[in-house]
Amino acid sequence: MSKKILISGGCGFIGSHLCDFFVKNGDIVWCIDNLITSEKKNIEHLLKEKNFIFIEKDLIYINENEIDEKFDYVLHLASPASPVDYLKYPIETLKVNSIGTEKMLNIALKSNSTFLFSSTSEVYGDPLIPVQDEKYWGNVNPIGLRSVYDEGKRYGEAIVMAYHRKYKLNTKIIRIFNTYGPRMRLNDGRVIPNFIYNALNNLPLPIYGDGKQTRSFCYIDDLIDGIIKVIEVDYNLPINLGNPEEFTIIELAEKIENIFGKKLGFKFLPPMPDDPRKRRPDITLAKKLLNWEPKIKLEDGLKRTISYFLNNFY
Ligand code: UDP
Repeated sequence: MSKKILISGGCGFIGSHLCDFFVKNGDIVWCIDNLITSEKKNIEHLLKEKNFIFIEKDLIYINENEIDEKFDYVLHLASPASPVDYLKYPIETLKVNSIGTEKMLNIALKSNSTFLFSSTSEVYGDPLIPVQDEKYWGNVNPIGLRSVYDEGKRYGEAIVMAYHRKYKLNTKIIRIFNTYGPRMRLNDGRVIPNFIYNALNNLPLPIYGDGKQTRSFCYIDDLIDGIIKVIEVDYNLPINLGNPEEFTIIELAEKIENIFGKKLGFKFLPPMPDDPRKRRPDITLAKKLLNWEPKIKLEDGLKRTISYFLNNFY
């Protein structure tokens, strides 16, 4: 039987891949997005589908009492997610993760839907342990520039758990680590699109700080596969989703140079504020609960992402 699903942030990088998945599956998808950091072209191909409904609106102005649909799943993906974006939209970021999360929870409560909140590895802040598991409470600067995102997501997790505990709502929290792939914006500001953009334009690769900070990059298809499994699993505490293979930013830059087969050089720039030094997910829980782990190697994912940028922007 087909399901009815509400996805906030459905025009974004991750949200639009989820819309695709459910539309292809024959489910009915309602997508809501205000397009501040996402693009309508990500869902343009779905607009002709009769099981896809697009509402262009800011979630925080939705009156949940006027929504009488019965949704099986309510998935809250809406939020700026690139540091460049959330530094530009600090108040919007706080609101969509606080007021926005509450609205989505209320919609879910009305039809006793399964609710999913997309949280982030940023809840761990600048971690004091090398590999972050879900039990780690994090090391977050509550008033730093990144706090609008970090604390917004931490508040989001808190209110989701409160709805779960108080109303027994079937809630899920995923902590998404760095993810990349087709439909990222070329000017998104994150490291992979920035490097690809510079490589395509024969420019040196911009490295913030000393480039020794680490990240672990998950390809979008692997992430979507994990999210679908989380929705169905009988577990309500946070689950890390990410690729545990860790690289320094310099190693990533070298990979990009190798794929392009040219020496681009590196341009060292001042570090981003409160930039986490280390980030690597412990995915033991996801492996055990979901029988999930990423399959796509960084090099393959980068090649696919480069082809997407070449086909869409050049
Ligand atoms: N970074 C960089 N050059 C760029 C963009 C980002 O060196 O053009 C660094 C950034 O300082 C961080 C890492 O790459 O240490 C990942 O940054 P991104 O914005 O992709 O995501 P984050 O993990 O910080 O949310």
